[in-house]
Amino acid sequence: MSEVEAVQIIAESLKQQGIEYVFGIIGIPVIELSMAMQAAGLKYIGMRNEQSACYAAQAIGYLTGKPGVCLVVSGPGLLHVTGGMANAQVNCWPLIVIGGATNEDHEGIGGFQECPQVELSRPYCKYAARPPTAALIPLHVEKAVRYATYGRPGVAYLDFPGNILQSRAPEEKIYKALAHPAPPLVYPPHDEVIRAVNLLRSAKRPLVVIGKGAAYAHAENILRHFIENTNLPFLPSPMGKGVVSDSAPQCVSSARTLALQKADVVLLLGARLNWILHFGRPPRYDKDVKFIQVDICPEELHNSVISTVAIQSDIKPFAEQLFEQMNAVNFHFSNENPWWQQLATKCAQNKEAVQTMSKQISAPLNYYAVFHHLRELIPRDAVIVSEGANTMDIGRSMLLNILPRHRLDAGTFGTMGVGPGFAIAAALFCRDRFPGKRVVCVEGDSAFGFSGMEIETMVRYNLPITIVIVNNNGIYGGFDQDTFDAIRSAGDLSQVTPPSALGVQVHYEEMMKMFGLKGYFCKEIVELQSALKEAQKLTDKPTIINVAINPSSDRKPQTFNWLTESKL
Ligand code: ADP
Ligand code: MG
Repeated sequence: MSEVEAVQIIAESLKQQGIEYVFGIIGIPVIELSMAMQAAGLKYIGMRNEQSACYAAQAIGYLTGKPGVCLVVSGPGLLHVTGGMANAQVNCWPLIVIGGATNEDHEGIGGFQECPQVELSRPYCKYAARPPTAALIPLHVEKAVRYATYGRPGVAYLDFPGNILQSRAPEEKIYKALAHPAPPLVYPPHDEVIRAVNLLRSAKRPLVVIGKGAAYAHAENILRHFIENTNLPFLPSPMGKGVVSDSAPQCVSSARTLALQKADVVLLLGARLNWILHFGRPPRYDKDVKFIQVDICPEELHNSVISTVAIQSDIKPFAEQLFEQMNAVNFHFSNENPWWQQLATKCAQNKEAVQTMSKQISAPLNYYAVFHHLRELIPRDAVIVSEGANTMDIGRSMLLNILPRHRLDAGTFGTMGVGPGFAIAAALFCRDRFPGKRVVCVEGDSAFGFSGMEIETMVRYNLPITIVIVNNNGIYGGFDQDTFDAIRSAGDLSQVTPPSALGVQVHYEEMMKMFGLKGYFCKEIVELQSALKEAQKLTDKPTIINVAINPSSDRKPQTFNWLTESKL
């Protein structure tokens, strides 16, 4: 009777369910599993930190619609990825985590890296299980992939003790799982679509909000037609950017505050009324605003505020039916409308304020000047990865996305350290699906510090990622050298160094020298311009462009403080 090793069963089951990429860090007891994965034809990327491996696996899931796998060792390995699992679950991105675990007969007596991993994972998962025998592995792998991708996407965890990984199963006893079909499309009830149409038609100040659910649903083609035909103003969420191009005339990102505050009907397409959208409540919204909410997850409907029309549907079929109905009545929201005039005036005002700051290019540079020139020189179709505080916030409005799923950032969970892992996933995605497309990873100096060592992974796998560090010497902001020295001469460094401060003008770009490669340090726009041009020429190596900016450069004044308390 021929027997099959458990590691081979895992690897082949993953392959059978359409998994393509694995990111991980190996060690006891998953070393053989990583090799079996490669033997089964999976692409394995060895990372430097488990968190980054988990970020990369979830980004590939968002980009391809098929979960990536994150492979880690027992105990600390699994604990290090719980942040990543939470990030994926909160972002509604598909992800499979596979953890090695201590041998079952060592449990309870202080086994090596013993840890209650299934229990620990459960709050961050849709499905968490320990397959009890090698023969049953295919059942659990199929279920994990199905749970990660069906309904609202999320995380599945599979736990494998060393003794299971080392076991074998007789071939004819191995569970025969079928590859499940693509997730079922959830269609909207026709009557609800009509109610949505009627509400939109009666609106005086309509607004469409496009979230990353619409991006994940690949609803871009129909939504582009819909926005163009109806001429409705729209606002993308941070990662909903590019579903309809940021450069479309109907995009009112430059008047975001006004659009949210004054709209009387808001159509929410795959975006939640969480902190990013200010909970849908006053003072950020009109107290009488009516929401039309469309989400794949029925439990999400009416969250935070009661929606006037609440529809469980995939965004794509909903958008198709909405388009049809609006088209049938020749709906067109004219530019002559007072609402459009108000929005257009505000957009123009805000764009002008930004223009003025963008033109101030004397050193030390400000954020707007850096982002303005970055925007001019990075390819328009590049995938933009971004994290940081000001760097991410200002970059979001300054760097345009003309294509869907081309922005990856700290997301709903606001996780720092995601950038390099996301960039690695995006670069592999480009390598395999869109050769020649660039990945630009725009990092704050603090954000970069969380996962900076992944630069070695980028070099090892020949990934041409352009990392731009917008370096203001600190978290939110730091100090110039003289101020930094003066503050720190006043006493014990741990007592006087401001918690926000990082080293002054640290030469992060010198990390490239570790690999015999070149990085760039820029204080002037001309230096940034020439560094970016050089970076574009690299086809199989990353680079770091470290831009020293004014440590007290800030956002332009905002109408509301960040996270203004919303009250019903
Ligand atoms: P954003 O950060 O862009 O506002 P959120 O993560 O808050 O986006 O919301 C995304 C929403 O999209 C989630 O509530 C999720 O359930 C939903 N969603 C995910 N995939 C789809 C889909 N294919 N169709 C409809 N809604 C989806
Ligand atoms: Mg900083």
